[in-house]
Parts: sequence; C-alpha cells; structure tokens
Amino acid sequence: MTPLTLWGQALAVEGMGGGESRAVLRFRAAGSGGYHLDEHDAVLIHNADDAEIARAAGVQTAVFVARDIAASHGYVFPRRVSLPANFDYLGDGDIIGLNPRSRNLRVLYRRSSSHNSILVTERCNHYCLMCSQPPRDIDDGWILDEIAECLPLIDPTTRSIGFTGGEPLLEWRRFTRLLSIARTTLPETEIHVLTNGRGFASPEVVAAWAAVGSTKLCAGIPIYSAVDHIHDYVVQARDAFDETVLGILRLKDKDQRVEIRVVLHGITAPRIVETCSWIARNLPFVDHVALMGLENTGFALANQDLLWVDPLDYRSDLTAAVGILSSAGVKVSVYNLPLCLLDREIWPFAVQSISDWKNAYLPICGTCAVRDRCAGFFSTGRMRESRGILPLPPESLPARLSAMER
Ligand code: SF4
Repeated sequence: MTPLTLWGQALAVEGMGGGESRAVLRFRAAGSGGYHLDEHDAVLIHNADDAEIARAAGVQTAVFVARDIAASHGYVFPRRVSLPANFDYLGDGDIIGLNPRSRNLRVLYRRSSSHNSILVTERCNHYCLMCSQPPRDIDDGWILDEIAECLPLIDPTTRSIGFTGGEPLLEWRRFTRLLSIARTTLPETEIHVLTNGRGFASPEVVAAWAAVGSTKLCAGIPIYSAVDHIHDYVVQARDAFDETVLGILRLKDKDQRVEIRVVLHGITAPRIVETCSWIARNLPFVDHVALMGLENTGFALANQDLLWVDPLDYRSDLTAAVGILSSAGVKVSVYNLPLCLLDREIWPFAVQSISDWKNAYLPICGTCAVRDRCAGFFSTGRMRESRGILPLPPESLPARLSAMER
C-alpha cells in the first residue's frame, strides 16, 4: 500500500530563474492547442505529439513527465520543468507550488480529486499525541502567499477544499484574508478548515472569521474528552479544553458552522460514550460530529503502545455513542473505519472519508461485497490490522448504506 506522491523534487527546472521566488503552476493538457494560457499555466508534455502541438501554439512553459522527451524537445520552450515518473498522474487543471532554486515542489490541488486538502502551516500550539503532521517551529509564512496565488487558479466547480496544518489560526489575520479570497474565487465550494479551535476564544478572531461572510465555511475542531485535563493531555497543552469549548460557543453565537472531531484511540475510545453524551447535552447545536478511526502515522507511531486499540474492542461503545448523538438530533458520521469493524446499525453513518491519495484496501478485501462502500485503510504510516477484518458476503449489502443517503 503506497500513498500517492504529493511532494518531491523536480528533475530539472530551466528558464525560470534561480532566485528565491516561488512559482505556482497550473497544468494544462496539450490537447489540440488553441490555448488561452495565463502566466501560471504550463502545458504537460507526455510525448512528441504533445510537444509539437504546444510548440505550434507558442507555449512558454512546458512540463515534462518523460525524461527522453524533455531531452529531445525541451529546447523549444523558454521555461521547462521535468518531473520524475511518480508525478505522471498529474493532469489538466492540477496545480503545484515550485521553488525553482531548490526544485522542491508540492502538489496543491488535483482537479479530479474530491479530497483536496491544503497545508497552511507546519507550526502549531498543540503537540497532540497522535498528530499525523508533527509540528515544526519554522518560518513558513510563504505558504500563505503560495495558497493566495493558487486559489484563483482552482476550478470553480470544485465541490470542496480543505485547509489543514499545523494550526491555521496562528496567523489568523492572513488566513482569514485567504478565506475571503476563496469565498470570491470559489463561491460554490465547501471550505473546511481543520483547526484546534483555541484561537476562537478571542472575539477578534471570531469576528474576522464571521466577516468572511461565507455560508460554505466550516471549522472542524477536535474535542477528545468531556474531561478537561484528559483533552489537555491528548493535545499536550494546558487550558486547551476551556479555550476550545469557548471558541465553539463564540463561533455558534455568530452562526458559524462547526464540526466536532473525535479521533478514537487508547485514551479517547474508552470514553467515547461519555464524550458524546457530554456533546449531546452541552453542544447539541454543532453542525456535525465526526467520530474518526486513527491514522497510524506521525506521533501516533511513536505513541502506539499508548494509543493503538483494535476498533473491534470499542465497537459496541461506538454504536452507543452514535445512537446518543443521533437521538439528540446531532448529525454524526463515522470516519476512517472499515465496515466489517462496525455494527450493522451504524453502517448508514459510515463515510468513505480517507483521502484518495492515501486510501487503500487489503488483498482479502477483493472478495468483499461492500468494498466499494467501505472506508478501507490508510496507506500512510504503519498499518495495524484489526483481528476483525473479514470480507463480507453479497447478502451483507443493504439498500441504504452511506451517510450521503440518509
Ligand atoms: S473486508 Fe475489506 S472491504 Fe470488506 S468491509 Fe472489511 S475492510 Fe472493508
């Protein structure tokens, strides 16, 4: 199981200057020519025919994904980028950020994907025990500039875009300006921001967030326990629980959309009934609660003796927790957990939530009747296999299965 390559290094970058400045490139298929290209557009050259079409159309920037074509046809284009073969999945409309000097690149957007998630910063004021993107205290403010350049290039028919970190609200002024750009350039796109929510304890931050004025904007905020010091322990930050809950209250006071996220592991799973009862009693007005299987990567790997728990062992508690929230009228979903590990009664709440670039299945899943609707597994990190994985027979497939059909 290998995740898609989303960052790496170009083999060569020529004609783009070797200074510090970064470039954001939107790829266009060579097609039949007749382009209306802007300064960010680069035409993908896979073969000699592509090269000839692009040359005849006067294309300035070419991206090669085959080394031999770059060697034989590259010279006709003023600006040239050669990518290694593991980026050959990139296609028309996809966008990368590129540092011409170091040749480092990251894929910012894939038009064919419904799981585009853009990293805003690696910095964070939490140090969560299971963080899949361990924070780094670095000066990465340039990322916000890169995203601002990227947003107007994204296909406006894109259904949803996520922003993640690190903690996006550490630079809340710049980040909320970014959200305003997204509202203008992507008015129909759902914008989902993963944040620890503590920044919203400040009325000033909530006011800036609300001023974005988008009904498509949602903050995904984790609460790991109904007990303050347990939440604070999971996120390794004192007073985090109080500030996070205050932030949620302030957001809802301004009619902003909020999703609560609970990652299930050795500390949170045994308390999931208590946590969801508390949410149902105290925060029933949130827009969605996601109960999420653990991605065994990053800090979760380092802490796996503490965190790993077979989902089979919290199966009945998860069913009860979903029932509590659902009965209270709270919209709830189960993310990242295979169907064979869930009680049938909560299958309608299960979502194929794992991002396409890191979603995988086991060989035995090939014979399973519900594979096409199952969340499957993370291909990142080190997979821990539950003792409950079991291909299901055709009679297992009910008429109504996914949360989308509820
Ligand atoms: S056997 Fe595989 S495809 Fe079937 S429910 Fe389990 S994890 Fe999903």
